[in-house]
Amino acid sequence: MKCGKCGGEAVESTTSEAMEMGFGLLVVRHIPCFKCRDCGEIFYTGDVAEKIEEITEAVKQLMQEVTIIDFAKVA
Ligand SMILES: [Zn+2]
Repeated sequence: MKCGKCGGEAVESTTSEAMEMGFGLLVVRHIPCFKCRDCGEIFYTGDVAEKIEEITEAVKQLMQEVTIIDFAKVA
């Protein structure tokens, strides 16, 4: 996969993301992604982006101050 930012080569990797939800913080770990070797830009495939949306929606119901989700366990 090519990097949309610099055109470099992006390779499969995993990452973590922290999202401020207003009422609390959501941390998603072990998210499969592509990472650019040149500039370090991170990309998600459509499926992964959708799953992150789902997780975000589910966490809104929980309303905890800090929620840590392991992507590998919910996907
Ligand atoms: Zn790049």
